[in-house]
Amino acid sequence: MGRRKKIVQECERLMDEPEHIRNIAIAAHVDHGKTTLSDNLLAGAGMISDETAGEQLAMDTEEDEQERGITIDAANVSMTHEYEGTNHLINLIDTPGHVDFGGDVTRAMRAVDGALVVVDAVEGAMPQTETVLRQALREGVKPTLFINKVDRLISELQEGPEEMQRRLVSVINDVNELIRGMTEDMDDIEDWTVSVEDGTVGFGSALYKWGVSMPSMQATGMDFGDIMELERNDQRQELHDRTPLSDVVLDMVCEHFPNPVKAQPRRIPRIWRGDDETELAEGMRLVDETGEVVFMVTDIGMDPHAGEIASGRVFSGSLEKGQELYVSGTAGKNRVQSVGIYMGGEREEVERVPAGNIAAVTGLRDAIAGSTVSSVEMTPFESIEHISEPVITKS
Ligand code: GDP
Repeated sequence: MGRRKKIVQECERLMDEPEHIRNIAIAAHVDHGKTTLSDNLLAGAGMISDETAGEQLAMDTEEDEQERGITIDAANVSMTHEYEGTNHLINLIDTPGHVDFGGDVTRAMRAVDGALVVVDAVEGAMPQTETVLRQALREGVKPTLFINKVDRLISELQEGPEEMQRRLVSVINDVNELIRGMTEDMDDIEDWTVSVEDGTVGFGSALYKWGVSMPSMQATGMDFGDIMELERNDQRQELHDRTPLSDVVLDMVCEHFPNPVKAQPRRIPRIWRGDDETELAEGMRLVDETGEVVFMVTDIGMDPHAGEIASGRVFSGSLEKGQELYVSGTAGKNRVQSVGIYMGGEREEVERVPAGNIAAVTGLRDAIAGSTVSSVEMTPFESIEHISEPVITKS
């Protein structure tokens, strides 16, 4: 069996274990390293070859497609990662890096439960960092922080340990100040802020593929002194081998981002104003794969063969081929022609996609980004607010 097929099978198996699913987005100010980091994670999870990661050329895993250099562009991708002896399914939704695509970023946030916010160590938090944090928190999506380009502090700016520490602490404080300002009305503010001590902050270099966090440093026995020495001496390969970025970040994802069972009860009241006493509401809170189908479309893509593909989050029930589903804001029903997941940027058809997952569906011809698609008529999800500072408009 080919490697790709094996990965698809493993993803299909894990789709039925919501406790082991993490739906995440990576968001950043433009040029802070989101693309380079995403490629690293895909390479680390075996989805693309290690050599191409960091060159922004994400490749398919099929042997015969290795030469083609398929670029992963605005794609969603599912990958697996073993954490503490258990395999996890990580569904990564790509978010556009430019402020003009603010609407798309907000829509992506509706589909996920965690957002990895990337900040350039040299530039620090920038206006778009604030925007993506606002988008995440408004949707009840938990942020973690990755401070990127730390190699530049060491090799280019020649900073000493104290200077570097001061700079990193100030980035973290700035981000937390932004978060606190946005969560005043929310419960449990400390659950939203990030900290080095609890492992919700990582540092490293997406370009040179190394990364660290407090838990990773404890596990590898490496400290900042070791890292500075290796980076200064140009021993980046060794740095990567000893503390690979993808492991550190994917471990952080599995440990700190909520799974759908934990996330949905908290998120549903924020994004849906229907009657919370109904079975439908219960199905969404419990991530019930046998409940009524509730699917929120967050993106419509074009496939040269399959035509329009609606992708988004299954909050309840299971999507299957042949289902007749209501599409909010339209009369009549649409028939599901195929359901699939995204693998290495390509759609892979599967039998069914249960609650808690990201699905790619064909046949929903009336659906638009923002549609609520369901097996019974229901109150649609709240419309997604496009936050593209300074103006706020409603979709
Ligand atoms: P995006 O706009 O956030 O997706 O950023 P990219 O991933 O495209 O990176 C922007 C630029 O920063 C590219 O030239 C990358 O090679 C560079 N870059 C990304 N990560 C790092 C890093 O960790 N260190 C250094 N020195 N450069 C980086």
